[in-house]
Amino acid sequence: MLDVTVIGGGVMGAATACFLARDHGASVTVIERDPSYARASSSLSLSSIRQQFSQPVNMALSRWSMDFLRRVADELAVPDDRPAIGLVEPGYLYLATAAGKATLRELHELQRAEGVDVALLTPAELSSRFPWMEVGDLALGSLGLSGEGWFDGPALHRAFRRRAQACGARFVTAEAVGFETAGDRVTGVRCADGSRLGGDAFVIAAGAWSAALGDALRFTLPVSARKRDVFVLETPAVLPDCPLVIDPSGFWFRTEGALILAGGPPRGEDLDDLPLDQIDHGLFDEMLWPALAARVPALEALRVRSAWAGYYEMNAFDHNGLAGRLPGWANAFTACGFSGHGMQQSPAVGHSMARLIAGLDAPLIAGLTPRRLLDGRPLIEANVI
Ligand SMILES: Cc1cc2nc3c(=O)[nH]c(=O)nc-3n(C[C@H](O)[C@H](O)[C@H](O)COP(=O)(O)OP(=O)(O)OC[C@H]3O[C@@H](n4cnc5c(N)ncnc54)[C@H](O)[C@@H]3O)c2cc1C
Repeated sequence: MLDVTVIGGGVMGAATACFLARDHGASVTVIERDPSYARASSSLSLSSIRQQFSQPVNMALSRWSMDFLRRVADELAVPDDRPAIGLVEPGYLYLATAAGKATLRELHELQRAEGVDVALLTPAELSSRFPWMEVGDLALGSLGLSGEGWFDGPALHRAFRRRAQACGARFVTAEAVGFETAGDRVTGVRCADGSRLGGDAFVIAAGAWSAALGDALRFTLPVSARKRDVFVLETPAVLPDCPLVIDPSGFWFRTEGALILAGGPPRGEDLDDLPLDQIDHGLFDEMLWPALAARVPALEALRVRSAWAGYYEMNAFDHNGLAGRLPGWANAFTACGFSGHGMQQSPAVGHSMARLIAGLDAPLIAGLTPRRLLDGRPLIEANVI
């Protein structure tokens, strides 16, 4: 029986463990240093899913994952539970001024050629579809008509863990600090408490903290922790059919029940490892709120109910996931660096990682191979939110 050790029990590690145990009968151990997942990106995610990427590999991963999410109650059922993840599909809406119109059209052509269900809307069409939106400065919008929306990410994460455990996977609390090796094979993981775990294959799925484990195998994973703030807003305004809106200024918002969630790129330099408890309230007051009220005048009246921050596991090389075999090693793999779009890709990536580790083909993630770092072939994703 294939014996696999996965480092990191976030959604990527849990999904990989789940598919390995469920579909390939593998014996799986997941090493997780914090079973509360308090700082894991998977607990702090906006958990939205889109097809509007610039890279076909990302479109294909999200399409596969969307189909899986629609069937999740069956796919991840355990004897006492059929998981519910609250998937809704109001779409993403990318807005462009005259300056961004040509790019939006180019991406539209590319996405349509890949089968993405997306439509371009003129300002007049935007206004009639979303009467609450100010469109005076806009030249074009790109709306996902199906296959885009959001869901309860922590519920999906929990469902992967529970199904993995129901299929025999073990989750142990420990911090991996190094590896034992023989030639081009990893033979064990060493943990901070002195314990050691063996296996036939090893997976680094440690999210924003994966680089240290790559270093331990002499492979540089250019992944670091970049804080992103999310603001939870209360407003009497009602925005019927509101999609996840990406404004030309870079900020975004979407509804969550009666609330609105909003955020945007950080002000100033995007530094590594900023503390998660230091929310940049100035970002909201000085930049987001004025931009939000200009786009949706009804949002003049709002109150910040709360805010949270989480880390994007940012891949500085090309802002895309690194998924596949670690170059130089026969039995070491990684799934990390998804740069803010890992939650939605976790079903397809977990499924593909499990196939790869089991010795099968995994065409969906071929483009995400970490080998591209060595080859100097970046897979640049233009649409990083
Ligand atoms: C604010 C925010 C909004 C986001 N919005 C979206 C979105 O809308 N859509 C989307 O698809 N994605 C989104 N993301 C990204 C998504 O959440 C992540 O891509 C995804 O959760 C990454 O999962 P992961 O398992 O790789 O990492 P994590 O969830 O961080 O899990 C890694 C785990 O590894 C553990 N670990 C680390 N080092 C070790 C070690 N040495 N030993 C043992 N355990 C270790 C950690 O404790 C952690 O639990 C967002 C992220 C943030 C922060």
